[in-house]
Amino acid sequence: MNSRRRRCAFALLSAAVCLLAPMTGFGQDTQSGDSLVPGSHPEVRYDGKSVVRVWPANEKQMNQALALSENLWSERLIPTGPIDFMLDAESLPLLEDIGIRWQLLIEDVQPLIDAQKDRSVPQGDDWYSQYKTFAEVSAYADQLVADYPTLAQRIDFGTSLEGRSLFAIRISNPATGGEGNPSILLNGCQHAREWIAVMVPMYIIENFLAGYDTNPDIERLVNRVNLIVVPVTNPDGYVYSWDSQRMWRKNRRNNGGGSYGVDLNRNWSKFWGGNGSSGNRNSETYRGPSAFSEPETSALRDFILSDPSIVSHIDIHSYSQLVLYPWDAIASDPPDLATLDGLSRIMAAQIKSVHNETYRVMMGYDLYPAAGTAMDWTYGVEGILSFTIELRDKGWYGFLLPPDKILPTCEENFAAVTGLADQFSQLTLDVDPLFAGQPTTMRIYQADPNEMVYVVYSLTGEGSVYVPVLDVVLDVSSPKLVGSDQADANGYAEVTAFVPNNTPLILVWFQAAQYQNVSNVVLTQVN
Ligand SMILES: [Zn+2]
Repeated sequence: MNSRRRRCAFALLSAAVCLLAPMTGFGQDTQSGDSLVPGSHPEVRYDGKSVVRVWPANEKQMNQALALSENLWSERLIPTGPIDFMLDAESLPLLEDIGIRWQLLIEDVQPLIDAQKDRSVPQGDDWYSQYKTFAEVSAYADQLVADYPTLAQRIDFGTSLEGRSLFAIRISNPATGGEGNPSILLNGCQHAREWIAVMVPMYIIENFLAGYDTNPDIERLVNRVNLIVVPVTNPDGYVYSWDSQRMWRKNRRNNGGGSYGVDLNRNWSKFWGGNGSSGNRNSETYRGPSAFSEPETSALRDFILSDPSIVSHIDIHSYSQLVLYPWDAIASDPPDLATLDGLSRIMAAQIKSVHNETYRVMMGYDLYPAAGTAMDWTYGVEGILSFTIELRDKGWYGFLLPPDKILPTCEENFAAVTGLADQFSQLTLDVDPLFAGQPTTMRIYQADPNEMVYVVYSLTGEGSVYVPVLDVVLDVSSPKLVGSDQADANGYAEVTAFVPNNTPLILVWFQAAQYQNVSNVVLTQVN
């Protein structure tokens, strides 16, 4: 068995929740006769409903069990399970009759929903002690921008089907490069019922801003990397999930015939229409009539296209505790597999370091195929290093994660984003191709602004050499100075050197350094 198959077999053990679902019809809107005026929908209650996880022994068992389902929580019917779904508590004995292996996840759904909406205890100073409505999220985002006017900016980049603002908060320090710095895009809540995927982006915004004045590590990151955060990608669905159907997933497109909603994370153009999406408008993974048919996806696409500084992207979902990288739709390794896997592992390690929670790292497809996702589009079309994080938990509460789990989930994922941002804030050296007898240019990015940058070379390879005057350990042996330059206010420097004649095919190692700061090593060969 090759490694790909091993990974697939491994994936079958997981609770694949967020990204895929079959044609089940559970997405049908029971309120389809109502008007689309926000707030006009009666609240649907879930009294006497339970959530179970099943492991079918065969297809017949799976179909018998799913006949009891009233709302599928898993995104794909992995034939051997686990499959999570909601059902009437009175149907639980029927699982015994079927003879299927099953586990009770939630005995009574409604009290957990009530707890998520509970406002009887004052939030005090902790905004993250309660889930927040779209209006509260939007207002708090405005407040944060007002509190940090030099670093934060609100960008309203589009309008949802029902007329709500699609907005991002951009965190960038114009005094340290701003426009020229690389940007990381985060977006939450493509899927309406994943409420924790709204709170985490808000926490990340707040703590990058607040940390700028109090934490030198955060100050350094904000000086070198921009953060662009869309807390609510699907505001109509999110509002509907609060006001009417807590378990709503899609947007609020009227598909006709009493059917509502397009799955926004099946509506992106890369691999649109492929395996792991549905053409059935009643499906929870209905891809829409065409790629980018929905204003929520097309506006975010245009926003991304307008900003070439975006180098990395995290699409935030729940639940399952996973860090996924491309591809979602195909079994092939992505061209940047080592980089994507490495960055994913850095994020998972950062998460683990905070509250000891394990988020498993894997390629999206190995969990389950999903076609038309945001991650595949940002990576496959724009070359952005992209990830999907599935937040807490592993299924004991699922979408109904209790309010006291909001803050720890936020804290560990803030650590993940700082770990990712750190990777894009390092001193970076690029070297043009070397030709014997010609000059060549070396470009240095992410340097400490206005400080000297030194470029060294080695003809003998990697090593470990301490340089007292810079207080750094160089990673090359017998280093010799190529040249130096003072970094500009954007942290950019440039060194030009002449490649001697009669040096073809010689291997050369380069590295840049500043005081207490070294770059990557570049290995190249003279042409
Ligand atoms: Zn999701």
